[in-house]
Amino acid sequence: MSKISDLEQIKQSILFDLKCPLKDAATNLVFGKGNPDAPILFIGEAPGEQEDLQGIPFVGRAGKELDQLLRSINLSLDECYVANILKYRPPQNRNPSMDEIRNHTPYLIEQIKIIKPKVVATLGNFSTKFVLADFNPDKMKSVGGISTLHGKPIDKEIDALKFKIVPLYHPAACLYRPGLRVDLQEDFKRIREVL
Ligand code: URA
Repeated sequence: MSKISDLEQIKQSILFDLKCPLKDAATNLVFGKGNPDAPILFIGEAPGEQEDLQGIPFVGRAGKELDQLLRSINLSLDECYVANILKYRPPQNRNPSMDEIRNHTPYLIEQIKIIKPKVVATLGNFSTKFVLADFNPDKMKSVGGISTLHGKPIDKEIDALKFKIVPLYHPAACLYRPGLRVDLQEDFKRIREVL
């Protein structure tokens, strides 16, 4: 089966099997965008208002920042796939709860296993901790924060899947701390280097 039909099956199981209060309050499932054959997978945190309305990740203000960062390293959406830890928007964009992370990430793990990226670029604390904790939400507390990890690529092997992680600040962080934009632009260059 093709990656597209495998991903479609995961999407259908989220729509039909996932039990989560976020789902009842949401407008749309926000599953992923980009090229499933791409070598780079970006993992964000959770959909915001625009993402919920359009059913597509990173289309709001954080998405505009991400687009600019991709342009700064000459990377098109066709060379990456973009997904989130949570598949439905948390109210008022609050942080994901541990229960929500436990409920939603089995679907993210399936996405990763289908896409088989060479590079996993984690955007912000939640996705960085989740991937560095070997996809185990209950080990996330033992992983350091993004302010010490950002921009330092790490080799990882989980279930015979080998990839490099590039931990990055979340692009939304630039919106309230514009000084971080320079760090993010520098860190994005690491993606090109490890490819
Ligand atoms: N922030 C995220 O982490 N994901 C999105 O899809 C949008 C904003």
